[in-house]
Amino acid sequence: MLVAGIGLLLFCFVAFYASYSISSGVYVKAVCRIPAAGKSVALTFDDGVNPETTPWVLDILRKHGVKAAFFVIGEKVDACPGLVERIAREGHSIGNHSYFHRNTFPLRRTSKMVDEIKACDAAVYGAAGTVPRFFRPPFGVTNPMVGKAVRRTGKIVAGWSIRSLDTMGKPVEKTLARIEHRLRDGAIILLHDDRANAACLLEKLVECVHERGYKFVLLDELLGGEYPLGGGIAGFDAKTGRK
Ligand SMILES: [Zn+2]
Repeated sequence: MLVAGIGLLLFCFVAFYASYSISSGVYVKAVCRIPAAGKSVALTFDDGVNPETTPWVLDILRKHGVKAAFFVIGEKVDACPGLVERIAREGHSIGNHSYFHRNTFPLRRTSKMVDEIKACDAAVYGAAGTVPRFFRPPFGVTNPMVGKAVRRTGKIVAGWSIRSLDTMGKPVEKTLARIEHRLRDGAIILLHDDRANAACLLEKLVECVHERGYKFVLLDELLGGEYPLGGGIAGFDAKTGRK
């Protein structure tokens, strides 16, 4: 009885870890860090675009000549297409973060997930003329259905190696210290551009990363030739993301 109980507990723990840790790779192979990239790190921003805070983030990136990847939510893209066009025009990468970003996303049928990923692709294409190569599941949650949806859409799943926890409302200095402590070769840093203090954190982070001898590169560049290109959606060139 005790052994069965321990076994069940262990199973629950493994199942939870597999779903909620994007780096577990149980259901989906996600790129989380490329150690071979040396002293390079990639910045990624989730949950935009936000008409108020995203422009501040873009201004800081432009000031420092840093490029980043923005994992955008489709319905926000449709609400602010001009901002998405600016992201692309300024040389950043645009990733797919689903159309609605609801917490029920991982519970949907595979076909509905595929529809949502395609709807976000279409929104980005309409705004910026490019189709995302990367997909990041809402909340980083994966399961067998998410795995199937990803395979059907041909996306590369982008995880992270540094979760900044910038959504927890902690002081910028604390968030910065957490990121600095976890800096490693080829790290992928997860931030959110829809936070009021996003620009303030970014300004300090850029300085800190440079002081530590690292440089920022686009996620695409960090991956180099290690990952095959994603498929995008029918009718689009997977390499350029254009029709
Ligand atoms: Zn998100």
